[in-house]
Amino acid sequence: MSQSQSQNGLFIWTPEQLLAATAQLNGEWIGLEAADSPSLNATRIITDTRKIEAGDIFLAIVGENFDGHSFVKAAVEKGAIAAIVSQPVEDLRVPQLKVEDTRLAFGQIAAYRRQQHPNLKVIALTGSSGKTTVKEMLRHIFTQVEAAHSSEQSTTLVTRGNLNNDFGVPMMLLELEQQHRYAVLELGANHVGEIAYTAAMVKPDVACILNIGTAHLGEFGGRDNIAKTKAEIYQPLTEASTAVVPFDDDYTQQLTTAAKTYTPNVSLFGWRQLDEKGNSLPGVYATEVETTALQSHFKLHFGKQAAEVEVTLPMSGEHNVSNALAAAACAYAAGINPETIAAGLNQATSSKGRLGRQALGIHQIIDDTYNANPNSMRAAADVLAAQAGYKILVLGDIGELGEASSDEHNKLGQAIADKSVDVLLCAGEFAKDMVVGAKSQGMQQAYEFATKAELLPKLQAILAEKNEQQQPCTLLFKGSRSTTMETLIDDLLSTE
Ligand code: ATP
Ligand code: MG
Repeated sequence: MSQSQSQNGLFIWTPEQLLAATAQLNGEWIGLEAADSPSLNATRIITDTRKIEAGDIFLAIVGENFDGHSFVKAAVEKGAIAAIVSQPVEDLRVPQLKVEDTRLAFGQIAAYRRQQHPNLKVIALTGSSGKTTVKEMLRHIFTQVEAAHSSEQSTTLVTRGNLNNDFGVPMMLLELEQQHRYAVLELGANHVGEIAYTAAMVKPDVACILNIGTAHLGEFGGRDNIAKTKAEIYQPLTEASTAVVPFDDDYTQQLTTAAKTYTPNVSLFGWRQLDEKGNSLPGVYATEVETTALQSHFKLHFGKQAAEVEVTLPMSGEHNVSNALAAAACAYAAGINPETIAAGLNQATSSKGRLGRQALGIHQIIDDTYNANPNSMRAAADVLAAQAGYKILVLGDIGELGEASSDEHNKLGQAIADKSVDVLLCAGEFAKDMVVGAKSQGMQQAYEFATKAELLPKLQAILAEKNEQQQPCTLLFKGSRSTTMETLIDDLLSTE
């Protein structure tokens, strides 16, 4: 096998390396002449022909609606110098690496690439809510590390968007370059075994579960299974790596036991400072937490080392304090010092659709429309309850709850009735369940609508009345991604 080469810091794939990476899938070159081999060097492996540039290698994925093998010739036309296929294409003028399964080959090639970076520190995150938020907090922390080293290029690879599944994770790993010292990767679970698969290729140095919620309850058939599926992230851990476990979770015990099967290093994070026996936590916790409408101030403690730093997190919501504790625990396990962690958290701001704010006349709009599950809906209601003025909660449905849908929406309505929210407006299939739940707990001002369009006039009428009374309102919008509740904010803003 030839040595890993590099050109301007870019990783170069040689035919020998691709063969080695796909050995378990019986990788075999077709049409590769000995004379071709030295010149067949590519920096990119691409699965989408629209992104092919001269010198790339095209990998043909067989999807539900398309088969990448039909695009191999087009890829070569655009300059691909080789193709990775499971069905060799006839009369192709470039060499083809034939493998048993191209989707699995993509994963194996990504795993190989990760192994070429033995000094890279990899943090892998999963959980029902907060993955992207924690990932962004870690980005801010590692930006501080870079500032200290005055690096010109970013030395941290962070998952782009939501590339967190069995296809997105290998795609991110293939973006690793020589300059990277850290990687922060989000691992999502849509089915049992998916995290075991992605975690094995990522080989995390630090693996963190944020929480066990009820997202995708329908798919997994119960929280016990969700916990088991998420605990797959600990499987590749070794004596040299660390498991980060949430302390304030119903599943803390199960997750700790699962983690200890693989590593002795378990770091907890959570609000509490002491365990049941009164011993201080081997992990990260906060004291003197003060949350206001725009930020949270707290003291951050790093377990028994008794290191303590002050943080002013520019995000509202107690759940974001939990997220900050998780980010701190991960960064600390990756060797970052407490001062740098605090400096990063002080810079961490929310991304779109996650508690972003804007003004509407005398009113404040909080946009938390990115996504929702039962826990994050409650967390959002708490955020609203902590705001000033007349509080209006505008909710769409929570998707993917299967048979539990009606019941979960009813329970959510009941929980909202107990919070200091003045009006609840719901749109969608399960709006009725939320409103019935809220009314059953004595909330009068709860209204259901079949669609967002039907909800809008009611919202406008309330705001018109409040404008007359000169009473500022805070409105919080949220719903699952499928409900696109942000369009209601746009409609409201455009009709004012
Ligand atoms: P996805 O599974 O869609 O990728 P995610 O896990 O990346 O989601 P975020 O995008 O960070 O999560 O946040 C999604 C929603 O969950 C936000 O609306 C946010 O308000 C809420 N949320 C974030 N962190 C928590 C938490 N620790 N507990 C409860 N709710 C949270
Ligand atoms: Mg996410």
